Amino acid sequence: MTAATGSKLSDPHLSERDPDLFRLIQEENKREHETMRLIASENYASRAVMEAAGSCLANKYSEGYAKKRYYEGQAVIDAVEELAIARVKELFNAEHVNVQPYSGSPANLAVYLAFCQPGDTIMGLGLPAGGHLTHGHTVSITGKYFKSVPYGVRREDHRIDMDEVRKLAKEHKPKLLWCGTTAYPRTIDFAAFREIATEVGAILAADIAHISGLVCAGVHPSPIGIADVVTSTTHKTFRGPRGGMIMCKKEHASAIDKAVFPGLQGGPHNAATAGIAVAAKEALTPEFKVYAKNVVENAKALAEALMARGFAVTTGGTDNHLLLIDLTNKSVAGKPAAQALDKAGIVANYNSVPFDPRKPFDPSGLRIGTPAVTSRGMGTAEMVKLAEWVDRVVQKHGDEATLTAVANEVRELCNHFPAPGLIVG
Ligand SMILES: *Cc1c(COP(=O)(O)O)cnc(C)c1O
Repeated sequence: MTAATGSKLSDPHLSERDPDLFRLIQEENKREHETMRLIASENYASRAVMEAAGSCLANKYSEGYAKKRYYEGQAVIDAVEELAIARVKELFNAEHVNVQPYSGSPANLAVYLAFCQPGDTIMGLGLPAGGHLTHGHTVSITGKYFKSVPYGVRREDHRIDMDEVRKLAKEHKPKLLWCGTTAYPRTIDFAAFREIATEVGAILAADIAHISGLVCAGVHPSPIGIADVVTSTTHKTFRGPRGGMIMCKKEHASAIDKAVFPGLQGGPHNAATAGIAVAAKEALTPEFKVYAKNVVENAKALAEALMARGFAVTTGGTDNHLLLIDLTNKSVAGKPAAQALDKAGIVANYNSVPFDPRKPFDPSGLRIGTPAVTSRGMGTAEMVKLAEWVDRVVQKHGDEATLTAVANEVRELCNHFPAPGLIVG
């Protein structure tokens, strides 16, 4: 009989273990360095956030909450999660915080699970008007398992129509009323939503996935203390790892925690939790407040510069980190424009504009956001330059030479603004 002998697994670095994948990551690193990231939901997490999010904490199972776990060995994990919660509480002035949702969509699902039964009526901003899938869109589970009544924006000015929200809420008596957007360039009036929710007895949920970085820095009003529950991603303007979080009033703490675990998820992603703790520490600094202010200033400057060049910016500008361009008056639709811009090193996404006569997969608009370029330290001068490039590309979208020339200029500019978290060289 031979005794089993332990054999140690080999453990080389990724470059050696899997050169193919290593090369792909290097390629993405290069792309993220050389291009202007203008996807409004994207950002660059800091090196410190990425180190935490890629750490050994990912190895640990920790179903449950601090001091109430289902497995042993939680001394460190409990401390990590408690640190993340304490910092997020301080940052947003929140009564209760849950940092376990795997991302923004599961955070929203937890809200449904906490407050609704299948078949209940819910209301949210419709997707074509700038809302999110998880606010009751028909293709989403939230539109299939609940009776969804979407509200929209006004035809005249493309602002959320609070009169319509009130009328629909009174008529349909929703259990849950969502406010929060994914492609809407203006401030959300949380107090007005609160009034309506109270009038009809609805739970008010504010989804600040896009704007949480702006909210905690005070450059967008906060729904904390107004909405019953607030959800967010952690990787958009918040500049953390991919993840989600929920903030709520104390009275809803137990319902929310139970909905996240065991209602919806198993073990939390502890490395992501650590990344959230680091991002929250960063967001507590004066430096981050300046960052958030610059994000909005850059978006405003870009909107102004584009309008000066004859672009139709919906609502006539922006209050936040993004703008929507309606290309109807140009010779190109949203999708081919986005594709031409991508070739020119300017990465944005095609997007429906309110009352878009075109189909969602081939819409009239472009959505452009400034969180990522602002993380690189770009300012209003660069936004003016960017508007000029966008103009050139839209005018000559079929001309490869123009696209290549712009891509070269973009790369040159990007070389002066190294992004946080990337390995340069
Ligand atoms: C991005 C976003 C989400 C979803 O976040 P994921 O992390 O992609 O699941 C939810 N709500 C709004 C308003 C968003 O913009």
